[in-house]
Amino acid sequence: MPPDPAAHRVIHLDDYIPVVGEPEIAEIRALASRLQDQSVQMVNSTAVGGGVAEILNCMIPMFQDLRIPVRWDVMTGGNDFFEVTKAFHNALHGGTYDDRAENFEIFLAYNEQNRQRVALDSSLIVIHDPQPLALVAGRHNHAAHWLWRCHIDLSRPNPLVWDFLEPFVIRYDGAIFSSPSFTHQLPIPQYLSYPCIDPLSAKNHDLEPAQVRAIVERFGIDSGRPILTQISRFDRLKDPLGVVKAYRLVRSYFDCQLVLAGGGAADDPEGGAVLTEVREAAGSDPDIHILDLPPWSALEINALQRASTVIIQKSLREGFGLTVTEALWKKKPVVASAVGGIPVQVIHKHTGLLVHSIEGAAYQIRFLLSNPALAAQLGEQGHEHVRENFLMTSNLKRYLALFLHLLCRH
Ligand code: UDP
Repeated sequence: MPPDPAAHRVIHLDDYIPVVGEPEIAEIRALASRLQDQSVQMVNSTAVGGGVAEILNCMIPMFQDLRIPVRWDVMTGGNDFFEVTKAFHNALHGGTYDDRAENFEIFLAYNEQNRQRVALDSSLIVIHDPQPLALVAGRHNHAAHWLWRCHIDLSRPNPLVWDFLEPFVIRYDGAIFSSPSFTHQLPIPQYLSYPCIDPLSAKNHDLEPAQVRAIVERFGIDSGRPILTQISRFDRLKDPLGVVKAYRLVRSYFDCQLVLAGGGAADDPEGGAVLTEVREAAGSDPDIHILDLPPWSALEINALQRASTVIIQKSLREGFGLTVTEALWKKKPVVASAVGGIPVQVIHKHTGLLVHSIEGAAYQIRFLLSNPALAAQLGEQGHEHVRENFLMTSNLKRYLALFLHLLCRH
């Protein structure tokens, strides 16, 4: 079922004034006042799980508070479609690709099916990621503006998939990427915009220490000993097995626990198999907590992040890594791979520590566990970096400015 924006949380932008200041909200309202006669439509491939759903769940009610008509449509598809799009996802991140002729047919057939199902009749249409990319093939109203928002690291795409997708990309009025290194030689304008978090959501708002303790202890985690945590979908590109290996290297020096918490996303069919591999790798170690969380676990994730001594994001590829943003906002020291959009957030030795290997991750985790004062300082600096650059109000402002720019161009 597509999400119903009307059913979403009600957001009042004025509630963000204590976090971002009054001038920022006034600027947003001034931009929005010029867009009252427009309509915005966002299309992606899952209502829950993963960073894009996380962003849209906040962005849609923000548009509603600004009284800009907005709708959110979620693509539907069978397992065959999501297996193909997951293979595309891995290939676009630079992975190998099993070139099966029927993949492209499956992709196009589901895009066509969704084109019949979803009315693409808004004046500003934002298509997120590759799954619904080919909806643009049915574009006939040239008064409407179409943007492709690509959240993944496209710096080294497998050409078999990219060559198939590029003809659709160039039918858009522009493409938005999360890092300058993801851009391509394209005949359409390309824009930079960072994904962002909502500081007031259940995932990120402040929690009392007693509440944090109660939640993590419910999972059998000892809040009295160091906790290393990676929150991520169970996806090989998040390298959960690498995290287990890094933990084992640290464990011979520090009495610590590892939390690997994640759940599935409706558009990711590989999660179950990866979860099984992770459970096997963890064996019977009572200090490894593998938590398969349901999609409504925002408060639990918030508490797990706040209870952690160090947050790990050991991804092999990463679009941006909202889990890193969430951890920095909570003033946590982060050890993360220098891939995709992570270095935009983790400035080495200033807002966290960047690593390039399992051994490197273990070394930096040990360093942070031995230097709590420095770990706290990185956390403080990380928090300010997020406040300045990666809060949802900035994301909203960038969309509004981009929409106005598109409308002025035509
Ligand atoms: N997340 C979640 N439940 C999980 C795993 C992740 O709610 O079991 C959230 C996580 O807190 C973050 C988002 O999903 O907000 C993941 O975004 P990220 O950019 O880190 O990775 P993606 O899953 O989009 O590759």
